[in-house]
Amino acid sequence: MSYDVIVIGCGLAGATCARELAERGGQRVLLLERRPHVGGNAYDCEDGSGILIHKYGPHIFHTNNERVYRYLSRFTDFSDYMHTVTANIHGNFVPVPFNFNSIERVFGDRAPGLIKKLTDKYPEGTKIPIFELTEQNDPELSELADYVFNNVFAHYTEKQWGVPITEVSRETLARVPVFLSRDDRYFQDTYQGMPKDGYTAMFERMLDHGNIEFCLGTDARDRVRFEGGVITLDGEAFDGRVIFSGALDELFDYRYGDLPYRTLDFGFETHGVDSFQPNGTVNYTVDMPYTRITEFKKLTGQKKAGVTTIMKEYSRACTRGDNPYYAILNKENLELYGKYKELADRYPSLFLVGRLAEYKYYNMDAIVARALELCDRLI
Ligand code: FAD
Ligand code: UDP
Repeated sequence: MSYDVIVIGCGLAGATCARELAERGGQRVLLLERRPHVGGNAYDCEDGSGILIHKYGPHIFHTNNERVYRYLSRFTDFSDYMHTVTANIHGNFVPVPFNFNSIERVFGDRAPGLIKKLTDKYPEGTKIPIFELTEQNDPELSELADYVFNNVFAHYTEKQWGVPITEVSRETLARVPVFLSRDDRYFQDTYQGMPKDGYTAMFERMLDHGNIEFCLGTDARDRVRFEGGVITLDGEAFDGRVIFSGALDELFDYRYGDLPYRTLDFGFETHGVDSFQPNGTVNYTVDMPYTRITEFKKLTGQKKAGVTTIMKEYSRACTRGDNPYYAILNKENLELYGKYKELADRYPSLFLVGRLAEYKYYNMDAIVARALELCDRLI
């Protein structure tokens, strides 16, 4: 069989492009995936005790993008799960994003006064990045900001990124603002939920199209080569398009050095209890070597008595052979990425899409949006 397009990587970027090009574009797609399964980092499966787990970290779908929601809804129904997170601060479970309820849990009788000071200054519903809240003249608000900075952000951020919080990009920290509200949800997006039969089932439906041939357990580098401006498939020149969603430094044999990433080690534990913790994810913001614990049953809504599986996340520097999970966004790294991007641009039929290929901190919905936009252009 000959192909019009090769898609490398079968996460949300690759699966969306493969389906769109196959269906809307009527193109013959070869999809190559290194792992033995579909879904990229959103892959889920049952563990030995029958609990549906997320093998590569907890994934909660949320978006304000109606097109993305409608698109994925073709392949799955979503539950109405609303994700909540608490910070375990010396045994006190405090809602995150830090909000009015959190202020009450921590400051007790002083909470009404603090909330009033905040609402005198900002409209209710405002989301304030922590670095902005720490720039206060009022001594009481400064004390509040310092508390949140030290007990919610500083330690967690250092564990997650391996550097002091002052070296972490403001954009990253602004993902979790202080929220002037009583809304305890982690995300306030219009659409939010979990795929009712899991992510893997959703991916299988996306890929179920006669124009898509997919090979799992196949490292594209063994079949597709990029040399001297020419792309080859199995040694023959390939004049179709290639969509790549893997890491760019690896694609070009680390020619300019390694792009820095953080990786995660996951500690799964199954416990003989109905429930392990009060809500889906508990962040360990003042102690413990791991950043957070997720209890999957709370996310997926799975009903199973007397057993539950949790996952602890340990963050560390990523070296070759590890899974690169988080791009480390700073000037130097973006410049290095720029050099690889220039190399990629020498192949006019090579298109980059995805969290790795674009070296960005994208949520799932942003990836689907990027992939749909790319396919709009290509079709
Ligand atoms: P990936 O899912 O990484 O897929 C890329 C695929 O390419 C992989 O399967 C890889 O094996 C394959 N590949 C790479 N190189 C090659 C090669 N040479 N040959 C063949 N295959 C190759 N987003 C949310 O919206 N909500 C969340 O709750 C959420 N939680 C997250 C938690 C964690 C711990 C992490 C790390 C991310 C989370 N995300 C979340 C982000 C989400 O994972 C990404 O936005 C999304 O998975 C990116 O999809 P992708 O296709 O770009 O990349
Ligand atoms: N963060 C923190 N404490 C928290 C939650 C988040 O310090 O309780 C910071 C941390 O630096 C983290 C960033 O905010 O990396 C973004 O958090 P998010 O939950 O969006 O991270 P992700 O789910 O993508 O790992």
